[in-house]
Amino acid sequence: MGEQQSVLVLNCGSSSLKFAMVTLRRGDALVVGLAECLGSPEARLVITVNGERHFSDLQAGDHQKAIDVMLARMVEIFGERLPIIGIGHRVVHGGERFSGPALLDDTVEKEIQLCATFAPLHNPANLIGIRGMRKAFPRLPQVAVFDTAFHQTMPQAAFMYAIPHELYTDRGIRRYGFHGTSHAYITSETVGVLGLDPQSHGLVTVHLGNGCSACAVCNGQSVETTMGLSPLEGMAMGTRSGDVDPDLPRFLAELCGMDQKAVSEMLNRRSGLLGLSGVSSDMRAVLIAEENGNQRAKLAVEVFVHRTVRAVFSMASALARLDAIVFTGGIGENSAEIRKRVGRRLRLLGVELSAERNETAAGGSVAVISAEASRTTCLVVPTNEELMIAREVVKTMDTHGQLSE
Ligand code: ADP
Repeated sequence: MGEQQSVLVLNCGSSSLKFAMVTLRRGDALVVGLAECLGSPEARLVITVNGERHFSDLQAGDHQKAIDVMLARMVEIFGERLPIIGIGHRVVHGGERFSGPALLDDTVEKEIQLCATFAPLHNPANLIGIRGMRKAFPRLPQVAVFDTAFHQTMPQAAFMYAIPHELYTDRGIRRYGFHGTSHAYITSETVGVLGLDPQSHGLVTVHLGNGCSACAVCNGQSVETTMGLSPLEGMAMGTRSGDVDPDLPRFLAELCGMDQKAVSEMLNRRSGLLGLSGVSSDMRAVLIAEENGNQRAKLAVEVFVHRTVRAVFSMASALARLDAIVFTGGIGENSAEIRKRVGRRLRLLGVELSAERNETAAGGSVAVISAEASRTTCLVVPTNEELMIAREVVKTMDTHGQLSE
């Protein structure tokens, strides 16, 4: 196996495209790229190779243009024979159809299209990436890895809403959960680092990024998570409200004449840290504003912390044992302040953080942040969804006999 042999991992969002070439041998990213503002005049692509950044103006191009330019740049870097053995696509919603990764063919593509009912912004964008790459590399195995798949092990009592049953049987309305690739990665890392028995452990994994979710993991399987039918349910996030009274849309319609679309836009894009603070959706900016005496920023952080604590407790309620609570995501990995505020309210779960360990946990590496005497271990584990997707691609190719030695 050559040093550079890689899996290309693609994450196509509604106006962005992220990719990474993850090497098989070391699991590091040889190349990472980000195309932003697709479809607008500012559309551009940045590719980073060996720490050097290469910019391309996409001239208001769309996803397809971004893919074309990205491939052209890769050929400039690696030559015509790209060292790619397979391609992994992050797909947001796999419904009940996908409880694991799927080797892409026309049927799988159609099923992803069907799942778009539940993720109308995300799955169609994911499909543009899939179609573009299948056209560009018709002979290369390509695998879809779903954000929902890890949570397909949730028991029915956890995934059902208490609404008329036919809405589930006829329409598939239930809780699905998201961030599955991240929760799965964190789980396998934690089990390895702490030397837990893969068949017998209980974890609460807490992903705090722009989107936030927590997950209860029993023996490697998700048994409960905070997100639901869509990634809006659960904790307070950067711009998302998380849980609100389900009757809120009716109230807002009557009080302010807001229609359903306006309410949805408000709850998804103008709530959370941004809506409460009026400062930013970015935790760093909100913490700085709080330090400077901004009362709304202070409140936003307090609500964020409160709801995170509530989520951790509610996840713990789904477990018979709790070995560890694990923080990840941009905030979970980098903000000692938020971990400290959350941690000191988890005493009932046997958590005692070590102030020093928490402060010195540096972004980018695994660190135990609980004190020696803590009954429940707390740790920071940097997430790596690209690596997890690359591993799933290799595993799926192997299962289908498509992995040559
Ligand atoms: P995404 O969910 O889009 O992948 P990230 O996981 O990168 O996002 O998380 C982004 C969040 O992490 C932002 O709110 C950002 O402010 C926060 N963050 C990153 N570094 C820090 C830090 N040092 N302190 C506090 N928050 C941080």
